[in-house]
Amino acid sequence: MCSILYAMPVEETQALIIGASCSGLACAAALGRKKIDYRIIEKQDRVAAPWSQHYERLHLHTGKGISNLPFKHFGKDIGRYPSRAQVIAYLEDYQRDLGINPIFNTKAVSARRSHGYWRTQTETGTFRSNYLIMATGPYGKPKEVSFKGMETFPGQILHSFQYKNGRNFKGQRVLVVGFGNSACEIAIDLYEQGAFPVMSVRSPVNVIPRDVFGIPVLTLSRILSPLPPHIADLLGAPLARLIVGDISKLGLKKPPYGPIEQVHRNGNAPVLDIGTIEHIKKGRIQILGEMDQIEGNEVQFMDGQREAFDAIVACIGYSRDDLAILDIEKRRLDDLKFRASKQQFFGEDGLYFCGFWISPTGQIREIKLDALRIARHLAAQDTF
Ligand SMILES: Cc1cc2nc3c(=O)[nH]c(=O)nc-3n(C[C@H](O)[C@H](O)[C@H](O)COP(=O)(O)OP(=O)(O)OC[C@H]3O[C@@H](n4cnc5c(N)ncnc54)[C@H](O)[C@@H]3O)c2cc1C
Repeated sequence: MCSILYAMPVEETQALIIGASCSGLACAAALGRKKIDYRIIEKQDRVAAPWSQHYERLHLHTGKGISNLPFKHFGKDIGRYPSRAQVIAYLEDYQRDLGINPIFNTKAVSARRSHGYWRTQTETGTFRSNYLIMATGPYGKPKEVSFKGMETFPGQILHSFQYKNGRNFKGQRVLVVGFGNSACEIAIDLYEQGAFPVMSVRSPVNVIPRDVFGIPVLTLSRILSPLPPHIADLLGAPLARLIVGDISKLGLKKPPYGPIEQVHRNGNAPVLDIGTIEHIKKGRIQILGEMDQIEGNEVQFMDGQREAFDAIVACIGYSRDDLAILDIEKRRLDDLKFRASKQQFFGEDGLYFCGFWISPTGQIREIKLDALRIARHLAAQDTF
């Protein structure tokens, strides 16, 4: 096998970017501006592939003003929170307008540093580069759906990445497992399409309004971000409570820390409420506790309640994929708990990561900053 791979063609480039969605495109544009020679490879056959797979109702939860990649804004005709289709169109235009030419259907299967170069193996060939930029995203692998007794359930059980829209669930009682941003939007979608959504919520949650008196909450979060997370949360809490209300009255539990601290502690974003809470208050979306097990069409909950459902949508999130292709010391991955500007090993051995840190002020915004920083750092190297 090894000898076959090594017989494949070797392409040389200064920098290889793996992944052609938000992070990869942002890096390509930033490197292009600095006249740095690069190649960008993508395992799918199009840019922004994950966005074309997400559910149809999805809109950015972060405003368009902070969700653009370097050198190009969203169009003036697009609303504050672009839809999934508008994000895809923006990224396709971005690729074209910034002259980025990804090499599609090219999956990196391994990458290792050898004799001062990165040697990246794909399924069809090899790249030799001075620099390697990982832009494969923190959400590559849907978490496995595994509920006790799920094999006895007669209806559909699907992960949120398989959910497209609520049309097929009209009139059905659907259990949405989880209370993250996708779960909350999917529950609304189900309600709007005539289904009866019920949410199973296991863990305490931080819920903040997406807008505060017409201002995107992430704008306020950016103002507070220089402060220690718990202080920033203390200052933001009264406003959130005023708008969202007391979620414990709705059957939800709050963690002992606020939304900004949550991102720093656990690396996951708080719920930016786009109307789910109002639907819960009006009884259109029901809240139940943690699931225990499934028995036929019934779900038994930890508190002893038992309810029948027609379908289950598991909004249980994603984990990182494909960093296993990197032959590096594990401690380098600890860096991904930080933005590029705070990474201890940033650029060491010519290796960069873009877009892995989950930012409390908007991830696409952070991707843009990461990409510009990587390009500046590369341009300052003496190989150019
Ligand atoms: C449902 C959802 C909603 C989100 N909403 C927002 C939002 O409102 N605002 C915001 O700021 N952020 C949001 N995010 C977070 C984040 O901005 C997006 O996930 C964004 O797409 C991340 O871009 P990325 O390029 O880093 O990763 P991805 O978009 O995941 O792209 C990674 C790319 O790498 C490719 N790839 C992976 N492995 C390989 C390989 N081995 N070889 C070649 N190619 C490979 C993949 O095919 C993919 O195209 C959301 C995320 C999700 C999942």
